[in-house]
Amino acid sequence: MSNLAHKQKYRRLAPRELAEVRSRVGLRLASRLSKAAAAAGDELLWRVAREIERCCEPENIWIGYGLRDASQRVFDGTAALWSCGHLMCPNCHPKDARRLRKRARAVLEGMPLLVGEQFRFITLTLPTARDVGLFRSYEIFREAWELFRKREFWMTRLGGGVFRIEWEPNDVGFHVHAHLVVASKWIEIDECKQEWKACVVAAWKKCDVSQEIVTRSGLPFVNVKLTYNRKDRKWSENVRDAVCEGIKYVCKMTNWSELSDADLLRVGRALLEGDKMPRSFEVVGRLNRRHTIHQNRDTARRVPLLVQRNASDGEILPYLRDGFDWSPSSFGGSEAALMARAMALGRRVAMRKLPTWLWIAVSDVKIAESRSRRREGLSGRYAQAVFETLAGDRWRGVM
Ligand SMILES: [Zn+2]
Repeated sequence: MSNLAHKQKYRRLAPRELAEVRSRVGLRLASRLSKAAAAAGDELLWRVAREIERCCEPENIWIGYGLRDASQRVFDGTAALWSCGHLMCPNCHPKDARRLRKRARAVLEGMPLLVGEQFRFITLTLPTARDVGLFRSYEIFREAWELFRKREFWMTRLGGGVFRIEWEPNDVGFHVHAHLVVASKWIEIDECKQEWKACVVAAWKKCDVSQEIVTRSGLPFVNVKLTYNRKDRKWSENVRDAVCEGIKYVCKMTNWSELSDADLLRVGRALLEGDKMPRSFEVVGRLNRRHTIHQNRDTARRVPLLVQRNASDGEILPYLRDGFDWSPSSFGGSEAALMARAMALGRRVAMRKLPTWLWIAVSDVKIAESRSRRREGLSGRYAQAVFETLAGDRWRGVM
């Protein structure tokens, strides 16, 4: 789906419709991922799929009517009772996008404009190469980008900003492009296209792809515009405008459903390993060094929490060894003791370490507990509201 069609489709949806779309998209993704992971013998991704399914099932998605915000404005809304937190999940993605926007905004707001600089929204595209898969297209783009960022043209004009690579499938392969919101000096568009073209051609050559640029000008599509203030109908140097205009593209949702099974598994794997390939953004230019710290902290949050959470906990380490016997006999024959220990494990640890039957038992109990806590929390917070789940379960706020 094109960016615009995607926007038109989702912008005006009422909360109930949005909930239905998220549930449908999520369940479809979970089912595909589950089958593909099972076929590939990837137990961990199969578990991820199961969590996405639990997150998107009708029982888990609530719609609230008559909610009130801090300024007493009344609104309807939807979210999940329990969140799986996986980056592929359509329920959990909005939270992730908000987090990314917040970080991108912090980067841009912390960046002073030097003399002659303005905020620009730049799009660089890699012409689609026929039958070249997603990951290979992505590698080629990265190759071209690495060349481009080191060129004098770019280094003498760029201040700094945020950068994000995106992809969309089309009829012949993958359209990979990047959006940037950067503080930069004047950028001459034709020169920029020529420079980018040289990098694209070099990247194709290096990656052994024979391809030509088939646009009328023979140049790849590149767009540079100043950030626009829609309210005042004028171009603006204001950082907030730069953020609002650019970040919504920089943080757009990815179309997981349009991937092949093989690519879906690869993306799922990459996300589990904390790899930033499929989404997230990078910081470019003069803030690069300082921001690296935040970038790492953020990546670390996605990396399995196994080591960080438990390294100092000597008591738990024996249970985390591969091949630990998770049966009652290891717990003096007590099923209750086994269950208690399994329940005490962090969610991600449990996901990686417990045998399937035990993991399902533990995670179902935890999901049920967390749903009922969330339900109570919502009732207490929105006294005048009425709630329902997509499965038809209804409850009211508590005065
Ligand atoms: Zn989720």
